[in-house]
Amino acid sequence: MSSDLVDIASLSFEGLTEFVAAQGEKAFRSKQLFRWLHQRGAVTFDEMTDLSKDFRAKLKHVAQIVTVTKDLEQRSIDGTIKYRFKTADGKLIESVYMPSPERKTLCVSTQVGCAMGCRFCATATLGLMRNLTPSEIVGQVHAANREVRANEKIEKTLRPLTNLVFMGMGEPLHNFENLKIALGILEHEDGPNFSSRHITVSTVGLVPMIERFGAETDVKLAISLNASDDETRDRIMPVNKKWKIADLMEACRKFPLRQGRRITFEYVLMEGVNDTPEDAVRLAALLRDVPAKVNLIQYNENPGLGFHSTVNDKAERFRHALDSAGVATFIRANRGRDIAAACGQLANSENDRSFVPLGQKRAVNADP
Ligand code: SF4
Repeated sequence: MSSDLVDIASLSFEGLTEFVAAQGEKAFRSKQLFRWLHQRGAVTFDEMTDLSKDFRAKLKHVAQIVTVTKDLEQRSIDGTIKYRFKTADGKLIESVYMPSPERKTLCVSTQVGCAMGCRFCATATLGLMRNLTPSEIVGQVHAANREVRANEKIEKTLRPLTNLVFMGMGEPLHNFENLKIALGILEHEDGPNFSSRHITVSTVGLVPMIERFGAETDVKLAISLNASDDETRDRIMPVNKKWKIADLMEACRKFPLRQGRRITFEYVLMEGVNDTPEDAVRLAALLRDVPAKVNLIQYNENPGLGFHSTVNDKAERFRHALDSAGVATFIRANRGRDIAAACGQLANSENDRSFVPLGQKRAVNADP
């Protein structure tokens, strides 16, 4: 891949329109091109058979289609598939496909590694290697759609994925500009055309970015909270040293929620860390004046990180305590346990030492 060539799949619809105009082509060509790139997920210009040969030849001189390619997959007995994708410069990232009777969800990565340093997370051990480009973010969706179509014998023209959760490797709001372009592409009617109701972005709580995210996008917000007091959160999520829980809750109260929506609070239950009855009482108090629902997620253990999963009975008591306090609370099914399919707790080989070959056990899962 040459850096002199325009990364054409990273352009917003408006950016592509300008690019096509600069090539001296008619405006309708930009729609055709955008559809090839993002509705059909084309990976070569040669596939774009309704573009003239001259235009395709011109495109090859000035642009390139940057995407990700499947490197490895692991299949769980519950239908979850973890894909390891490779970028053009050889970086490895992961996306997790989680089918259920109601929806087909993909957990998407936004960075190679992560700078946030959450103590319970395998990805954190990599540090931040680089941001993913918009084309690499949407490329995961296109590649997973292709895989699901092939595996489930779904027609080529249909988009099998119904929901997207940005809970994979990286902190999405730490790569906000690229995330925003990717969301614009994913929601575009001439692209994959996802509804904003079916896209959720999860953050550890970069407070100033939550405000921008609310002002500049229309998708759903999830907060990876994981503690009910600052002392615990400081210890397991270093971001809390900068923005305390009170700051985060204030940002949530101000978040412009569309009618009928709530903010999802993810709470990974870890034995002896954040799972006491007092935690449940404090958590309910924090959420008293926020339109919220809580997803309790049982931790899948990462060897070497020193955290353990809360047992089922205790998790159920925690859920009951929150529910009784009027907070809608769900225990999320632990998807892909047998393949270590943890969104946000994934790591990969080469960038990483902890990618687990098929059949071995490690790590967790976060469900939408
Ligand atoms: S849990 Fe998410 S934000 Fe925290 S270190 Fe892991 S990938 Fe980054």
